[in-house]
Amino acid sequence: MRVDVFTIFPGIVNGFCSESLLGKSRENGLLDLRCHDVREHTSDVHRTVDDAPFGGGAGMVMRPEPIFACVEHVDPPRPLFLLSPGGHRFDQKLAAELAATHSAPSGGFSLLCGRYEGIDHRVREHLVDGEISIGDVVLSGGEVAACLIIEAVTRLLPGAMGNAMSSVTESFSGTGLLEEPQFTRPADFRGWEVPNILRSGNHAQIDRWRLAQALHRTLAQRNDLIEARQGLSNDELALLEEFPALPYP
Ligand code: SAH
Repeated sequence: MRVDVFTIFPGIVNGFCSESLLGKSRENGLLDLRCHDVREHTSDVHRTVDDAPFGGGAGMVMRPEPIFACVEHVDPPRPLFLLSPGGHRFDQKLAAELAATHSAPSGGFSLLCGRYEGIDHRVREHLVDGEISIGDVVLSGGEVAACLIIEAVTRLLPGAMGNAMSSVTESFSGTGLLEEPQFTRPADFRGWEVPNILRSGNHAQIDRWRLAQALHRTLAQRNDLIEARQGLSNDELALLEEFPALPYP
């Protein structure tokens, strides 16, 4: 999958995306990440990328010329998304849609990072295909948002994760539930014991326990997800009765 990022701080994105799973995915060719420095496409001696807003007001706005010049020079894979607090809220569903672009004719997608007070509106109107927000919070720039999106998308690519099942059973995927609580060794840590059923070897019961705990945890922590899947079935209610919930903070 090719991902192009347009930014005045390519080092932030390149650095983050060189470690761990992302670094490996780039090394083995699964992720072809190309970061482009918008500042290289300025034409004045000071390499200015921002200017004061028309109409007055605080802060600076990114100028359209270097952004258009950089994007047009590269001709990146589309769709090209502007990162912006007003955009479509990024979630697991959008991550899966972006991961699917790896097999589309474009072979990927692109991200444009703003800075300062934001970007000249003509970029939004005439250059990008859409806008993505990572949540109702304001960052100082789009770079961290780009890293977040690239990480969530890359781990969904076939072959990116060692255990291919892990992205199917985890939170927000498939069942629409949060993942059940997980435990590893030691079985007894400071007197807090791992539930016996997980050590029973009875895999049919373990599966039922896990589903019950995923339901309990989702009810306790994200009831909106239960509502989104139209509540609980009678079988699920019976399962909740059979296996009591683990404690949640
Ligand atoms: N003045 C703008 C915020 C600008 S923040 C406003 O009130 O909407 C500067 C840049 O950071 C933005 O251009 C955008 O690229 C990035 N950014 C900030 N918050 C973001 C968010 N929640 N999601 C994605 N990008 C964000």
